[in-house]
Amino acid sequence: MKYPAIQNFIGGKITKVSTDKKLDVISPVDGTLLSTVPMSSTTDLNEAVNAAKKAFPIWSKTPIKDRVQVFFKYKTLLEKNLKELAELCSEENGKTCSESVAEIEKCIELTEFATSLPQLVQGEILEVSRGVECRTEHVPLGVVASIVPFNFPSMVPNWTLPNAIALGNCMIMKPSEKVPLSCGRIAELLKEAGLPDGVFNIVHGDVEIVNAICDHPDIEAVSFVGSTKIAKIVYQRATNNLKRCLALGGAKNHLMVLPDAKVDMTATNVVASMSGCAGQRCMAASAMVGVGNVDEIINKICEEARKIIPGKNLGAVINKASQERIEQYIGEAEKQGAKILVDGRNAVVEGKEKGSYVGPTVIDHVTPDMSVATEEIFGPVISIMRANTLEEALKIENANPYGNAAAVFTQSGAAARYVMDHASAGMIGVNVGVPVPREPFSFGGWNESKFGVGDITGKSSIEFWTKLKKSTTKWNPEAGVNWMS
Ligand code: NAD
Repeated sequence: MKYPAIQNFIGGKITKVSTDKKLDVISPVDGTLLSTVPMSSTTDLNEAVNAAKKAFPIWSKTPIKDRVQVFFKYKTLLEKNLKELAELCSEENGKTCSESVAEIEKCIELTEFATSLPQLVQGEILEVSRGVECRTEHVPLGVVASIVPFNFPSMVPNWTLPNAIALGNCMIMKPSEKVPLSCGRIAELLKEAGLPDGVFNIVHGDVEIVNAICDHPDIEAVSFVGSTKIAKIVYQRATNNLKRCLALGGAKNHLMVLPDAKVDMTATNVVASMSGCAGQRCMAASAMVGVGNVDEIINKICEEARKIIPGKNLGAVINKASQERIEQYIGEAEKQGAKILVDGRNAVVEGKEKGSYVGPTVIDHVTPDMSVATEEIFGPVISIMRANTLEEALKIENANPYGNAAAVFTQSGAAARYVMDHASAGMIGVNVGVPVPREPFSFGGWNESKFGVGDITGKSSIEFWTKLKKSTTKWNPEAGVNWMS
């Protein structure tokens, strides 16, 4: 085992878990046993919540300008440790080195946003009648939880923790049991940056601990990122327990390609979007709808896809089960009559035979009823459908239950505008294959890609991580009393 057995991080210390239950953490790169991850129980969660509750009174009353000083230091530590964090990310998640570097750079950007919160979070004040003032302020909620998926071991935890903590909350993080190592390093760096003990805690585990988080009476808010199936369960359970909840789910992002699109630019964008992070991005292009004759673009997409080599410029998928599931989808599409133009099945990387790899896969002549057209595959696969008109393409896009991203490739401003107006997704790209809004804009989809109000990052997250206090003051007795007093 490459690293010591993982434990929880509670009250600023590595804390032994109360159960003996654990899972192996295996690198998808080459099958190496990296560590083991413990399955915590309610007892462990109680300990973490108590540590967070203890830290809250002092942390929440620390002025925000002082709180963000920790994040200035944390940002510097992320920069200083970028290479090591990126290597760890690649090791446990399987993405390529450059993708992991980009992930840590994104963590730096997210932290940079948190350091700007004092500029954004101030309330309002107005004299509403003579001598009477109303003022508002954003007040932290208390102990909050963040449950995260495997596909971004560092970035998704950093979607929530810098903003929630800078805004005065104390957090319990529940990492993915598939990639638990990066969060441990994050906790160490936060401590090194001067974050007081108990403000950030990690509790490892899976279903049992997620359920316990949703049920815990002292957790005020739960943020979740993962598949739609589990997002629904978490949203229902947490809100049923009267908690604030924002649960981000899966996706099936459609790219609409018009015949006037720039051939090279479109092909490189489509391939980068479908194959980046081995297709394991909730913003990845998964379905393409060609409008009219786009054969030249499809040929170029195949040419570009063939340049993507597993183990070289394409990382691993998370595990063998995932590899098999993706390959099954491709096989099913083939049986149903779709044409596999580029086939990524049975990919083997020399010297890494125990790794889990799927090569880039381009499937053409997919019909909207096939499973590769309707379901989230979460692998480097693009399913190409055909439409005669943009309206027809949008009808296909609108019919999919998800709503994270949609994109159009065209040189026509009017067509682009039409897609911006009519696509049913929270994030739209025009000649952009992965339309992730960068800070200070917020990230969040629609439909079955998100349950709850508001977005998870950027300015929108301020509303989720705080409650608004409204105070009305009167200091002049001569103002008298009227029906509005
Ligand atoms: P997942 O839903 O399997 O797991 C997410 C979290 O839920 C993990 O921490 C896991 O331990 C926990 N979990 C798993 N099963 C559970 C259960 N039965 N009850 C309670 N908790 C449970 O997701 P994943 O496979 O880790 O991540 C991939 C998914 O996440 C994809 O669907 C992807 O689209 C989605 N995702 C969405 C976004 C977004 O912004 N919408 C971002 C990243 C990933």
